[in-house]
Amino acid sequence: MKEKEQVNSSKGHGRTLVMKFGGTSVGSSSAIRQAAQIVHAEQPHWQNLVVVVSAMSGVTDSLIACARESVTGSEQTCQEMIADLQYNHGMVLNDLLLGSADRNVAQQEIKELFAMLRSLCSGIHIMGELTPRGLDAVASLGERINARLFSAVLEQEGISSQEVDATDLIVTDDGFQHACPLMGETRSRTLEVMQPLLEQHRVAVVTGFIGATQDGVITTLGRGGSDYTAAILGDCLNADAVWTWTDVDGVMTADPRIVPDARVIPFLSYNEVSEMAYFGAKVLHPKTIRPVVERGIPLWVKNTFNPSHPGTCINGNAPSHDGRITAITAIRGLSLITVEGRGMIGVPGIAARTFSAVARHDASVLMISQSSSEQSICFVIPSEVEKEVVHAIEDEMALELTRHDIDRVWAQPNVVIVTAIGSGMRNTPGVSARLFGALGKENINVIAIAQGSSEYSISVVVDVTDADQAVQQIHQEVIINGSSK
Ligand code: ADP
Ligand code: ASP
Ligand code: MG
Repeated sequence: MKEKEQVNSSKGHGRTLVMKFGGTSVGSSSAIRQAAQIVHAEQPHWQNLVVVVSAMSGVTDSLIACARESVTGSEQTCQEMIADLQYNHGMVLNDLLLGSADRNVAQQEIKELFAMLRSLCSGIHIMGELTPRGLDAVASLGERINARLFSAVLEQEGISSQEVDATDLIVTDDGFQHACPLMGETRSRTLEVMQPLLEQHRVAVVTGFIGATQDGVITTLGRGGSDYTAAILGDCLNADAVWTWTDVDGVMTADPRIVPDARVIPFLSYNEVSEMAYFGAKVLHPKTIRPVVERGIPLWVKNTFNPSHPGTCINGNAPSHDGRITAITAIRGLSLITVEGRGMIGVPGIAARTFSAVARHDASVLMISQSSSEQSICFVIPSEVEKEVVHAIEDEMALELTRHDIDRVWAQPNVVIVTAIGSGMRNTPGVSARLFGALGKENINVIAIAQGSSEYSISVVVDVTDADQAVQQIHQEVIINGSSK
């Protein structure tokens, strides 16, 4: 820990740095050039440098669309979509590697990956079925293509580098689309593959987002999972720091697309940023924090397109923001499920049975709120599982519904969880009053409320039509006006 505190400044240099470049940071020729320059500038300062790359922005979405088109649409449309993707990658390759000795090798490897995409999509079309496993094989290709491209660009810049498929490093369970790494095996594989490379002072360019099961079947770690890849590798290599390079100046007080005057937060604790990521701040994947917390590795979020900005430093000893709310987040695409009935009062086990019915559908419950009279339980789930979840609870409670102990189980779609986060709100009275005051001023209807037991956050559920205004209003009243008090 002591050693790592010395590199708490992103200017400090140490032994091992893991840097991750997100989709927009490697999403065009000029972005890739800029990212390569960043690697060039940092490389002399570190003994070991590991780079994690995402697919070019939009490519994972396009790959998933190709797979879906193969199963439900026309094969020809799918092949045209693939041709477009290949053309776009070819343009970037030509632009970046013209005249490079590595061009032909990279071009050939990328061609083979596109051939694999074509045959995967034909297979899906013939079978008429898209399994989670098939979807992961297709979705993995964006990172696999880009790692080859990025490594060739580094070589061209005179940086000795080697692309590494994370399928050789990160061993996961078979939870396709949101696989969990098996850390013991991942650690030994990572050390085995990476140590010889790093000893030769080569920059390893690793595919973000993907891993493989013990049997070598490709998995993905969840959308936006390249941040998680960087943190996993940081843990396995006991890195001095992990830097994620993105398209904004750091973690901000709100999503800058919704709140244009959101500010960069210079320092954040692991707890605060975990809560922010969990409650929808897309800037970091929610699972990124755990591997770095366990080793006390500082995590920096920086802007590829404004590298002189210091960014946000996340570590274990960020100052508490004395009663202040640090950030406002929102998660969309949700439904609020309510189980209600006067006969529920005092009946033990209703909540347990409700949530085990939900769990059988593998639905994650993002927020729970129970009225103190026990006449209803409300919880929020992703809308795509709404129907299954309502049916599962109705089945589980069939007897209670017939007896009218439970009156109904119903879903309210199109809701958003808006969360105010800040370690400073712990033991600070009045925080919720300010938050509800802000909503009240604009007549925004609050559908449900929950406070995290950690007291790092308060969440409200609002209708989707009120969501942006709720975020803007709380940001204005509680963060902008609050900081000038
Ligand atoms: P990358 O591809 O680099 O991983 P993402 O698109 O996944 O980038 O995440 C960065 C985006 O997250 C930003 O462009 C911004 O719009 C969005 N975002 C949402 N909430 C926040 C926040 N609180 N702070 C910074 N960015 C945020
Ligand atoms: N390319 C993947 C995605 O779009 C992973 C990432 O960008 O982090 O979800
Ligand atoms: Mg991301």
